[in-house]
Amino acid sequence: MAIQPFIFTVALPTPLYRHFEYLAPLGLDTGILEKIPHGVRVEVPFGQRTLVGFITGISHTAEYDASKLKPIARILDSEPLIKGDVLALCQFAAEYYQHPLGEVITAALPQVLRAADGVLPTTKTWQLTTEGKGLNAENFKRSPKQQAAWQALIDHHTLAHSTLGTYRVSHDALKALTKKNLAESVMLPSAPRDDSQHDQQVLKETPLELNTQQKVALKAVQHNTFGCYLLEGTTGSGKTEVYLHAIAQALQAGKQALILVPEIGLTPQTVSRFIARFAVPVVELHSSIAKGARLENWHAAFTGEARIIIGTRLSVFAPAPNLGIMIVDEEHDLSFKQQDGLRYNARDLAIMRAKYNNIPLILGSATPSIESLHNALNQRFHYMRITERAGSAKPPSIQLLDMRRENVHAGIGQTSLDAISATLARGEQALVFINRRGFAPALLCQSCGWSAACARCDTRMTLHNQPRKLHCHHCGSQHYPPKHCPSCLNPELTPLGQGTERAEEVLQQSFANYPVHRVDQDSMQRKNAMKELNAKLETGEPCLLVGTQMLAKGHHFPSVTLVIIVDADQGLLSGDFRGIERMGQQIVQVAGRAGRANKPGTVLIQSYRPDHPALNQLIHEGYSAFAKTLLEERQHTHMPPIQFMALIRAESKRADNAKQLLQIAMNTLCTLLPPSPTAQYIGPIPAFMEKRNDRYRYQLQLKFAHRAERGHIVAQLREQLNTDPLSKRVRWSIDIDPMDMG
Ligand code: ADP
Ligand code: ZN
Ligand code: ZN
Repeated sequence: MAIQPFIFTVALPTPLYRHFEYLAPLGLDTGILEKIPHGVRVEVPFGQRTLVGFITGISHTAEYDASKLKPIARILDSEPLIKGDVLALCQFAAEYYQHPLGEVITAALPQVLRAADGVLPTTKTWQLTTEGKGLNAENFKRSPKQQAAWQALIDHHTLAHSTLGTYRVSHDALKALTKKNLAESVMLPSAPRDDSQHDQQVLKETPLELNTQQKVALKAVQHNTFGCYLLEGTTGSGKTEVYLHAIAQALQAGKQALILVPEIGLTPQTVSRFIARFAVPVVELHSSIAKGARLENWHAAFTGEARIIIGTRLSVFAPAPNLGIMIVDEEHDLSFKQQDGLRYNARDLAIMRAKYNNIPLILGSATPSIESLHNALNQRFHYMRITERAGSAKPPSIQLLDMRRENVHAGIGQTSLDAISATLARGEQALVFINRRGFAPALLCQSCGWSAACARCDTRMTLHNQPRKLHCHHCGSQHYPPKHCPSCLNPELTPLGQGTERAEEVLQQSFANYPVHRVDQDSMQRKNAMKELNAKLETGEPCLLVGTQMLAKGHHFPSVTLVIIVDADQGLLSGDFRGIERMGQQIVQVAGRAGRANKPGTVLIQSYRPDHPALNQLIHEGYSAFAKTLLEERQHTHMPPIQFMALIRAESKRADNAKQLLQIAMNTLCTLLPPSPTAQYIGPIPAFMEKRNDRYRYQLQLKFAHRAERGHIVAQLREQLNTDPLSKRVRWSIDIDPMDMG
């Protein structure tokens, strides 16, 4: 009998929704071939190029014509880099989000390992020599830095070079210790996990005593079994403290913890809190960490050496061979959803990952998403609530200001100005929230009605003052404002509306004796800008903060006792069905910055629609009641999370192409499954901004009563649409569970 050839199924990072087959690499014998594990990287010829792919199957029969298959050029790893639960998660994500598996796996790897020459690092690791271990802190009295380095090595046994910064250990101090033969650095390859850490002390500081509500929440969390726990607690109620306790339990059992946080800005404070609490290696994974360091951190997670992994959404794919608990902090945050390419939601994938590992997942927020609230109310999630602020902090008092009756100065009402004035006079800090950067959102000619519009987008240009330029916030175009109206030559053009720069200017004029700090994308570009600002605020000196939603995210501003929300109406007017939910979350999150320490806070919400029922419910009954009403509305309107959406987007330079492709999609859908109350299709309709960056954009909105049916129909639609020649000339995409309808 002839020897059967080995056929390898390979997932490749190409936009094609299929797997590829290759023959075994030349010169390897059967014994070795049989043992090649799934997930191993291979280099393969692909047309004129070579690509790095991943083995996803081995068999003896080919689906395609075996005589035309080419051999794998090279096998790149001896052990797979993506395996177990992470490989399963990639497979799930590929299917659920309708994205090619090869691209999903590639995205899950650190950038360095996406290339054929990328290899796992050997890690430079610091440890004490026997002599060093024999000393005590007294010996370093004259050099605090060496003492700190020595102490860190005593606490952690070894420290990867990449984590020195995290542990505030000075490299020079280590070099000095090395000279004295007290410490040494060694190169460790793919470090095996040190199992002796099991019984090791995981705590570095004594944890806070939990209050009753925190205790109840902690007690509910079951280890070694799958469960999702929605932890709803106002800002400052002590949710993080509950995470820390639950994580300690997992660490004590020798496990790893994976914590997802929304944005980079949030991590410094969170990370320092974990490092202060735990005597185990902590690594960070997010895009502001340099490529090389990110690979080392990823590797530390991969080997199990890192016991706590903190990262942004992509970290849901971070390797952790011994995962014991997962946390998604600020679970409502939009940044967990990727808005292009693989349009995944890290919060939702976290649920799958916890399921694969049979472990608990805690989703925490002061303002849970309607999706999670729904899951909590129908008992798919355990629902835990902390209603009181931890320690002595009191909830802020919230008032709605009727702007129709106010004297307004560049968007800020007299009542607000008076309140700011009183706050500063008391020696306290005030925060002004205005969710628009730049000086003014429009530049207008009041004599003929002309306004500065972007030539590439259907939108007005925003006027910026520092430097004075018109910006399009959608395509990035910039140019100098015209000297006079291009339409009627009127020399006077009027900036209309408020942005952060204008608010800063007005506040500076009104409160000349106090510093005004602006916090937005433009002012916070420098690397340490947020850190420096925090240092200034920590002095507790009276000052004013003015900024965008960057201010709303997780920061502690203990001396801020007054919060002004300049324009609460934006969300009420939004075309997105989640607009009001977002508005409520934003108001509560910003309000949560006030009075976190021992001084009570006040929140003033400016609105031109002060009788809007949602706004009133939010203020008088709180977020929970507000969110429940929204959920009831979604029940009536059959919107998510009651029914399941998918968005098919298309854009092209010529409007007709995109529209036509979507019309074909619509016809295909109607034949696959005729519209009915359980399967509704709308479109093609223009996106909120029909033209952006010189492309015309349209969409189909699909809504299904059954999740599985959506998956099934959309997969068939994708397949059929892919065979249409127009699909090659139009940029189109599928968004499952879209979070942004634009
Ligand atoms: P959240 O994560 O809900 O915003 P945190 O866990 O950050 O809340 O807690 C807010 C503040 O209250 C922190 O300074 C924290 O140290 C403190 N805190 C939390 N729990 C307790 C407790 N049980 N006793 C005393 N202080 C606490
Ligand atoms: Zn004009
Ligand atoms: Zn533009």
